[in-house]
Amino acid sequence: MEKDILAKILMLRQNLHEHAEASEKETETQAILKSFLRRHTDLQIMEKGPYFYAVHKEGENLPNIAFRADMDAVVGPDGKPRHMCGHDGHSANLCALALLLQGQKVGKNVYLLFQHAEETGQGAKVCREFLAPNHIDEIYGFHNIPDYPAGQILILPEISNCASTGITIDFTGKPSHAAYPELGLNPVFTIAELVKQIPSLLDPNQYQGLVLCTIVSCRVGDSAFGVSPAKGQLLLTVRAKFEEDLEKLKTQMEEFIKEKAVAAGLQWQISYQESFPETRNHLACNEKLKQICQKENLPYQELAEPFRWSEDYGYYTKEVPGCFFGIGDGKGYPQIHTENYCFPDEILPTAAAIFLALAKA
Ligand SMILES: [Zn+2]
Ligand SMILES: [Zn+2]
Repeated sequence: MEKDILAKILMLRQNLHEHAEASEKETETQAILKSFLRRHTDLQIMEKGPYFYAVHKEGENLPNIAFRADMDAVVGPDGKPRHMCGHDGHSANLCALALLLQGQKVGKNVYLLFQHAEETGQGAKVCREFLAPNHIDEIYGFHNIPDYPAGQILILPEISNCASTGITIDFTGKPSHAAYPELGLNPVFTIAELVKQIPSLLDPNQYQGLVLCTIVSCRVGDSAFGVSPAKGQLLLTVRAKFEEDLEKLKTQMEEFIKEKAVAAGLQWQISYQESFPETRNHLACNEKLKQICQKENLPYQELAEPFRWSEDYGYYTKEVPGCFFGIGDGKGYPQIHTENYCFPDEILPTAAAIFLALAKA
């Protein structure tokens, strides 16, 4: 990458980093990106409210290829958004592609999609609406991956990221004086039964692939020693390699909860939050990526197992061919979603080169 382009992109990445915004709140981020694109390129910018895309148009009846970057930050335990997932790097990289496309003919129309709200699983679900009207033929995106050699391309398996969902289970019984617990209905016993049942619900014999459940919060009653509580809440995150397995686990869990709540005389409510699909890669697109690595002499590795963490990118590849790949951050690099994480700028030239090569392929 030319020094001048790299300097611009590094400054842009830093600027995005300093203006990290939570999912659905990416207004400043959008403004920075659009002003960068307007100043340095003649791409057509299509405003879509929470997200936008920029188009490098070469003509009618040409193939249409899309590249996706997400632009939201992770909200830390202190409630402040920080780019702990590296989406500042994804957006800056897409702008690098925009600069590299300036004045070039690649024989395709190239769509650069700047997606909001990846962290909550809400963004791609909305942005996929842009695929059909623009006749997008294929779509590509990448994620920075800690603990792999810096700049190494990671070609991910057919399922690259697990499906997952948050589950909130609320129980309501009846309060009573702590001296007369038999007059009330305390949901804690039903919650305990459910927690104890989790290992059987996860029995690997009933599933095709990996299935996991993590208890993220459990609350019953308040700090009131005189009261036997009426309300209890359990929060879980469940994930599975295959969406089908995740649905099976959810159904079994719902049935168990219903049975136990009815038996205990409790009211119950189950709701789902932050749901992500499985991310499924098209093997022909993976193959294209591999050939580019070989041709451009870029180091690559093919991974056999999916990442456990979810990506809403999977919504795109349900509709059009595409793939999601990784680029190593460096051995021993901090994990994503941890406080010390910062997108490694040294992988930007590789990321941009791959995108440009895919656009030309
Ligand atoms: Zn993330
Ligand atoms: Zn991410």
